[in-house]
Amino acid sequence: MRIAVLSDVHANLEALDAVLARADELGAERHWVLGDLVGYNADPDAVLMRLDEIGATLLAGNHDLAATGRFDVTWFNRVAAEAIRWTADRLGRELLDRLRALEPRRDADGTVLVHGSVADPAAEYVVNISDARSSFDEEPFGLCFFGHTHLPSAFVRSDGEIERRPLPHGEPLRLEDGWRSMVNPGSVGQPRDGDPRASFLIFEPDDRVVTVHRVAYDVAGAQAKIRAAGLPDVLADRLGVGR
Ligand code: ZN
Repeated sequence: MRIAVLSDVHANLEALDAVLARADELGAERHWVLGDLVGYNADPDAVLMRLDEIGATLLAGNHDLAATGRFDVTWFNRVAAEAIRWTADRLGRELLDRLRALEPRRDADGTVLVHGSVADPAAEYVVNISDARSSFDEEPFGLCFFGHTHLPSAFVRSDGEIERRPLPHGEPLRLEDGWRSMVNPGSVGQPRDGDPRASFLIFEPDDRVVTVHRVAYDVAGAQAKIRAAGLPDVLADRLGVGR
């Protein structure tokens, strides 16, 4: 069994389609998507429909919650807030209802799926070991997948010590028995680690292995749609540099 774990698609259809094609080549049979399906990029409706077509397990991120009136828009910077308002206008009632049905946490096959953190699934960023410790201390999960930071990252805890493990493209990380792990697949639709390629991971639950994959996609196409939609230029520019 192989599961594709995606996060922070952010309405980037070009990136999503490239990732789904690669996941398919890699034999993924299921898809877990850790929220922020919309916001920032220009294809929220097509992205939601595509994710439903493939029967993905979906979470809501803070952008999805804000677009459906469940998270305070004033929490966001000006550019993000503008994109959220544009998204809410663009989505029809049916897709807004679809988005409104999602929560920022779900459990799947004994694995915890959250957008932000275990302590605060909607909005807390897990960037460093101290952030990870708060989630490990919150409840005794064995494995948690999270998103929100747009940075591929893995925190593992064994004998009370927490370490950060690198997740380079194509290099498997085995989650050893006895470890507790928190793993972030990076962002499909707006990578921020300086590598503009879309990021996701393949999880092989039987062997407890995760492997991050980076996928080149039609960045110029996604940028052109952002500009044509009248969304802030900076949202197009940042896709080119992965920041
Ligand atoms: Zn996000």
